[in-house]
Amino acid sequence: MVQVSPRLVARMAGFGTTIFAEMSALAAATGAVNLGQGFPDTDGPPEIIEAAVAALRSGHNQYPPGDGIAELREAIAQHQARHYGLDLDPGTEVLVTTGATEAIAAAVLALAGPGDEVVTFEPYYDSYAATIALGGATRRVVPLGAPSGLIDLDRVAAAITPATRVLLLNSPHNPTGKVFTRAELDGLAELCIRHDLVAICDEVYEHLTFDGHEHIPLATLPGMADRTLSVSSAGKTYSFTGWKIGWVNGPAELVSAVRTVKQFLTYVSGGPLQHAVAAALRMDDDVVGDLRRALESKRDRLCDGLEAAGFGVVRPQGTYFVTADIRPVGGVDGLDFCRELPRTAGVVAVPTQVFYDDEEAGRPFVRFAFCKRDDVIDDAVERLAKVALR
Ligand code: PMP
Ligand code: GLN
Repeated sequence: MVQVSPRLVARMAGFGTTIFAEMSALAAATGAVNLGQGFPDTDGPPEIIEAAVAALRSGHNQYPPGDGIAELREAIAQHQARHYGLDLDPGTEVLVTTGATEAIAAAVLALAGPGDEVVTFEPYYDSYAATIALGGATRRVVPLGAPSGLIDLDRVAAAITPATRVLLLNSPHNPTGKVFTRAELDGLAELCIRHDLVAICDEVYEHLTFDGHEHIPLATLPGMADRTLSVSSAGKTYSFTGWKIGWVNGPAELVSAVRTVKQFLTYVSGGPLQHAVAAALRMDDDVVGDLRRALESKRDRLCDGLEAAGFGVVRPQGTYFVTADIRPVGGVDGLDFCRELPRTAGVVAVPTQVFYDDEEAGRPFVRFAFCKRDDVIDDAVERLAKVALR
């Protein structure tokens, strides 16, 4: 573990090194199979790579416009119209960012400062807590509940105070794989409207849903288009996580607030790759359907293997992660378990307790990524079978 510098500002003190960096470093150091950090081990479609190469070769190598190139903003608006019936002006209602991470950070920093509160669910994606802290706002966390159960709307209502500005929602949800239902979203929409909240919706796994579960953007619910920022990223949809091209869309007034902050975080984002992502978004939606189908079968491959090895598993409805309960294989603490797993089994996973304020609630769970080649999943499963036998 890297030591936390004594010079680090107090509000970031609890955020030393991300669990993803720690676990990927552990995988590199031990040669273990890395099912920790979520990144595919196979590139996305070659046509998209060719579009990037063509953009690099045709002189798109200086600062792009701050909002993102017009071609990409138009492609994003068309994507939102085609999939969800959202009607966006690409000139004022779409902003290209450096991955979804920057979109979320800029949105949170733009809308919540000292004295303000942000309500989100736990387990939560780690950047949420860090970003809320960076802005000096306070997070209020509601437990997601049992993996396949419904959220408790009364608990969400109880977490909202007069200081609440933002509801930060992630569906499909990392790390549990839960896809929020229409009824849950209706309840959340009602709360947002009643308490005049802005919803920031992290939808990076919007296309990675299984068994007929459909992602419903909160922005499509009555009364929500005016108060919702929707965030997504090409990293997940097209398997180019290293490109870091994301976006946020919503009403011009809110996007403008996000733009103000984004200007001073990165100014602009990856010019040539924006051309390639515009080309990707214009491609036939079958590309995404193929990825979804491949992932559904990988999900079953890994879940079957984990179950056979003795882990407790709830099959995810979306994303490329599965959360496993380590108690049936004799595990107690996910962090200890994951730090030991390269030695005990030659596999790296991510302990999800770091995504909880209530560490006890998260202690027995670890997350495995299945966006990996079938032979890699099989190898990992074979190794994990040893854990239960010890
Ligand atoms: N939100 C969630 C829920 C994620 O899992 C990720 C994964 N990287 C991100 C945001 C960040 O996306 P990006 O890599 O586009 O910044
Ligand atoms: N979103 C990916 C995950 O959850 C990668 C995260 C990261 O590296 N920051 O594993």
